[in-house]
Amino acid sequence: EMDVKQMVAWFRHYADVLDDQKALLTELDAAIGDGDHGANMARGWRAVKEGLHEFSGNVGDSFMLVSKTLISKVGGASGPLYGTAFLRMGMAVKGKDAIELSDWPKLLQAASDGIAQRGKVSGGEKTMYDVWKPLSDGLMLRDDFEGEQSLVRWLAQTAAAKAEETKELRATKGRAAYLGERSVGHPDPGAVSTSLLFKSLQSTLA
Ligand code: ADP
Ligand code: MG
Ligand code: MG
Repeated sequence: EMDVKQMVAWFRHYADVLDDQKALLTELDAAIGDGDHGANMARGWRAVKEGLHEFSGNVGDSFMLVSKTLISKVGGASGPLYGTAFLRMGMAVKGKDAIELSDWPKLLQAASDGIAQRGKVSGGEKTMYDVWKPLSDGLMLRDDFEGEQSLVRWLAQTAAAKAEETKELRATKGRAAYLGERSVGHPDPGAVSTSLLFKSLQSTLA
């Protein structure tokens, strides 16, 4: 199980990771977008970290705080997309005091479906969805995790691999779509920030 204290630790850690990796995300977005993904994410999650100082609530509420903060603080496409993902995850575990192993498939499915609807994507457009969707699909098919550590390790490893695979895709959504064929060869910034989210989860629970 993951209780609300661990959730808060995850979100705080991710805010710090984004602060460290801001330059990397900016560089990735400069290559195929407008170069603000690092700043957008670092700003949004710094606000999340501040909001968590006076937070009290259950795990569902903690997802909701992230959602509201990202929607209001992140300018750019990624704000409403991550905001929707966290909103849907919050709804999926509404009222719960902890996230159990069996909650993860529905969390990832809720997030993934939310991004698909909000972003009007179905996969292969070279966006963050190309990471969220395989995480959701993969968890749906698997019930052989020995425990939380192994599930979270799989999430982190799969997210990193899928983010890397976005390099080969040609962008057809978001700003990178303007580049068309020239977007090939660069990973998608939102896919990489998503992989850092799950890497942060793994380090938090390690
Ligand atoms: P902006 O593109 O407005 O400057 P960001 O740079 O913060 O916003 O975020 C860009 C990221 O948002 C992309 O790398 C991609 O992962 C994601 N993105 C953009 N448009 C979409 C979409 N329609 N569906 C899903 N994800 C998208
Ligand atoms: Mg951008
Ligand atoms: Mg922008």
